[in-house]
Amino acid sequence: MNDPASRPLAIVGAGLAGALMATLLARRGVAVEVYERRPDPRIHGTERGRSINLALAERGLHALRLAGLEDEVMRRAVMMRGRMVHAEGATPALQRYGRDDSEVIWSVSRGALNIMLLDAAEAAGARIHFDRRLCEVDFDARRAVLQDKRDAGRTHEVGFRALIGADGVGSALRFEMDRVTPLGVHIEPLDHGYKELEIPPGDDGGFRIEPHALHIWPRGGYMCIALPNAEASFTVTLFLPNFGTPGFDTVPDGAAAEALFAREFPDALPLIPRLVEDYDAHPVGILGTLYLDRWHLGGRAVLLGDAAHAMVPFHGQGMNCAFEDCVALDRHLAQDADLETAFAAYAAERRPDAAAIQAMALENYVEMRDRVDDADYLLQRALSAV
Ligand code: FAD
Repeated sequence: MNDPASRPLAIVGAGLAGALMATLLARRGVAVEVYERRPDPRIHGTERGRSINLALAERGLHALRLAGLEDEVMRRAVMMRGRMVHAEGATPALQRYGRDDSEVIWSVSRGALNIMLLDAAEAAGARIHFDRRLCEVDFDARRAVLQDKRDAGRTHEVGFRALIGADGVGSALRFEMDRVTPLGVHIEPLDHGYKELEIPPGDDGGFRIEPHALHIWPRGGYMCIALPNAEASFTVTLFLPNFGTPGFDTVPDGAAAEALFAREFPDALPLIPRLVEDYDAHPVGILGTLYLDRWHLGGRAVLLGDAAHAMVPFHGQGMNCAFEDCVALDRHLAQDADLETAFAAYAAERRPDAAAIQAMALENYVEMRDRVDDADYLLQRALSAV
């Protein structure tokens, strides 16, 4: 193992992108070691963090298909035919995403999807080490320092051929790369945050509102959305400005949130029986966009997913885009034995696409919260698409 060329590729992070990347590489017989700072969710359960469910689109599904996971994922996915718009004082109306059910998106559980991907990565031959947090990297010696929670927090060194950073928006690998060669990191925080709530199943165990839709309650400067879960519940996300009326500063607790819902989302309020408790218990999530000028450090390290291009969630494309990164990186690695050439080709292919989706995600927030109930705007958009 002293010759770096004979060492494995090491992936930092076994979240959605890291586990898929490991699967794709291992299926081609590439030696892969994955280091994940969290404990194994198959043993310890999934940690509550960002969005409980996610919209999976064809871009992401294509990647899962290549990893052999389409059938398993689709068995637990809930079809969303379009957006069900709950305009103030009007009957909810479905705006289809496409012509028919061949053009739809899917709601999937983040935790369940992550577990399927971890199983697939291990079945393909990747080795996943949990409770290992990347701390430091010596890129010249190709050695990384990892903190091991299971060994009283002691640090250990591991060797690698190259590091693949799938460690999310707060990427430790990106930080280490940036210390060696500035990557041109630029973060634009959004001045809106989010809070997750829940519509549980009805008394009969079924969905309380139309299951096959992404529900939106647009209110101009802010909005609520709800995505279905296979268990007949919905995960509700309230997006509000961080400061304002209403804003997370002026809606500081569950009682204030209940008053806001009674005033602004009266049809949603009776559907969310634990609104006060959940509002008090759940943190306000932070949102923003991450831009980088460079995604790789020669042939020694490369970034993908949120570590390279975190975006606001309003197009539901962060994970989908991360999955496309994995497919592209795997393809370039298969085509070119020289890591630097493969990393450069991957970055050149994916950076413009990621930038375009980041911009569309920012634009779509205005559309979702302010325009989906504007008949004139929708008519104009439909005409311009003809
Ligand atoms: P992550 O999922 O963040 O995974 C990173 C992994 O790295 C984690 O497991 C973490 O524990 C690990 N890690 C971090 N630091 C270290 C370290 N130092 N050492 C070792 N391991 C480490 N996308 C969609 O496509 N559709 C949606 O509908 C959608 N909805 C969203 C809703 C919300 C509210 C938010 C916030 C995001 C949403 N996204 C959505 C975006 C999506 O969640 C991300 O794009 C996706 O999770 C990125 O995957 P990733 O693997 O790159 O990063």
